[in-house]
Amino acid sequence: MHRALVYFEKENCQHAVQLLEVLRQLYGNEAFECYALTINGNGQVCQGKVDYVLDVQNQALKPYDQRALTDVVSTLCKTYDFDHLLFVASHFGRTLAPRVAIRLGAAFVSEITAVRHDADSQPQFIAPEAGVQNIGVIKAKAGKPVVLTVRPDTFQYDGSQEKTTKQIKLSDLEFKAGGIRQISRHDNVDNNDISDCELLISGGGGIAKHFEALAPLAKALRGKVSASRPILDRDLIPRSALVGQSGKTVSPRLYMALGIHGAIQHVVALERVEHIISVNTNVNAPICSLSEIVVHGDAATFVDKMLKKIMEDNSHATD
Ligand SMILES: Cc1cc2nc3c(=O)[nH]c(=O)nc-3n(C[C@H](O)[C@H](O)[C@H](O)COP(=O)(O)OP(=O)(O)OC[C@H]3O[C@@H](n4cnc5c(N)ncnc54)[C@H](O)[C@@H]3O)c2cc1C
Repeated sequence: MHRALVYFEKENCQHAVQLLEVLRQLYGNEAFECYALTINGNGQVCQGKVDYVLDVQNQALKPYDQRALTDVVSTLCKTYDFDHLLFVASHFGRTLAPRVAIRLGAAFVSEITAVRHDADSQPQFIAPEAGVQNIGVIKAKAGKPVVLTVRPDTFQYDGSQEKTTKQIKLSDLEFKAGGIRQISRHDNVDNNDISDCELLISGGGGIAKHFEALAPLAKALRGKVSASRPILDRDLIPRSALVGQSGKTVSPRLYMALGIHGAIQHVVALERVEHIISVNTNVNAPICSLSEIVVHGDAATFVDKMLKKIMEDNSHATD
């Protein structure tokens, strides 16, 4: 029987639920038990989805205290002998998971986007390699546990396997507090959530000088503006509108890639896009091979002409 622990970070419970699909793909038909770790009772979202909720009940355990949480996860791992420990690749998960892996001397695979199995049915993890234009196929060293961080929105949990969830309250776990104190908190309200939008008008280096032209087009088509890294680097968008490995994974019905080359760190976030149209002066750019329609030419001219055409059509419609 396999056992896995999924950490349900309070701010990221909906993404943590997606990790249950990782377990389904990881273990296939083999029996497994799924444990959710929650802190001070944020486990409602796990009800019916996991076998056990391990709820640590101790007000001294602050949800931002990485040192204390490393103690907690490590202790639980020794008690329950987990095969896999899963964390959402959020800002918090990205720093907590490697700490846990080091403490346990465990294999660590970061930012996975897919799971496969080799000829011997051993799991392989797909993840973009940092700093290079490659996707890595990674096999963890033998032994357990294996610690994984999973990119948000790359796995979809369909909720088809309803479970009887047992609650285990843990009030006497020992941990060493990290000695940090939260003085104030500013919630980051994301008014431009590109991750659940139907149409994205996305600009890259090839349209950087005319990037402001994208907003009227997005408005006319009832979509949103997103972008690749050079646009973020020029401060033309907030980080919440960045598509890619360091930004968001997106799943619109239509993604218009205007002057975007298609680097691996960008396209890794496009796996669930239904249709891609790209406009590029170089038809050999990698994004073109992923696109259903490729327009060969200047992206700014394309945006200008398309907007004029929409305006014309709209004015005829109201005549
Ligand atoms: C660790 C790491 C993380 C990263 N994370 C991300 C990430 O999350 N998201 C991301 O996007 N990038 C990320 N990057 C950067 C990534 O590697 C690329 O550098 C970046 O995606 C390139 O953006 P681009 O295609 O818009 O620009 P460019 O590489 O400058 O490409 C511009 C494209 O526009 C075309 N073009 C030029 N002029 C025109 C024109 N007038 N009209 C039409 N087309 C034109 C060119 O042919 C080219 O294909 C990351 C890199 C690293 C190392």
